[in-house]
Amino acid sequence: MPRFRLLIAAVLAAAVAVPATAAAAVPRAKTPAPLVLASSIAARYWGAVPCHGKVKIIAQQPLPAQLQRDSDAWVTFDSSLGANDLAAPAGSYTRCTVALGRFRWPTAASMRQDWDMLCMTMTHEFGHLLGHPHSAIRNNIMSPAFPGYTSEPELCRTLRPSHSPR
Ligand SMILES: [Zn+2]
Repeated sequence: MPRFRLLIAAVLAAAVAVPATAAAAVPRAKTPAPLVLASSIAARYWGAVPCHGKVKIIAQQPLPAQLQRDSDAWVTFDSSLGANDLAAPAGSYTRCTVALGRFRWPTAASMRQDWDMLCMTMTHEFGHLLGHPHSAIRNNIMSPAFPGYTSEPELCRTLRPSHSPR
């Protein structure tokens, strides 16, 4: 089985909030370490890297109008059946994005502070990018909401970054 390198391009709002004339000279924000770790755990959890290794993770995104107001994260992708269609074979997904809402994890420090939920959420979103729809089973990682931490993947706990509480 071919192994794909996961490509992560995280863009923090701070990096793009610069005058247009200066934008070209400003380097992109370094991908926050918790995002790198959470996405590698997510790939290990599923035993697969979605989207042929090309997943863009974007922080601090404004919530799309059609999503519930308390959505922390969501995915977008193209597929053989059109945009964001989980009925399409996951191998056909391209232009994959995991977007994190603006309010929950605005900084790398907040990601570390809220590590367990970030790691669960990233695993959940990777599940979508591998073609998994929501599960009605409580405590399943594909459940649409996490009332607690019972569905937290073991790897999120064992590989918790230093200085992360819990
Ligand atoms: Zn979901």
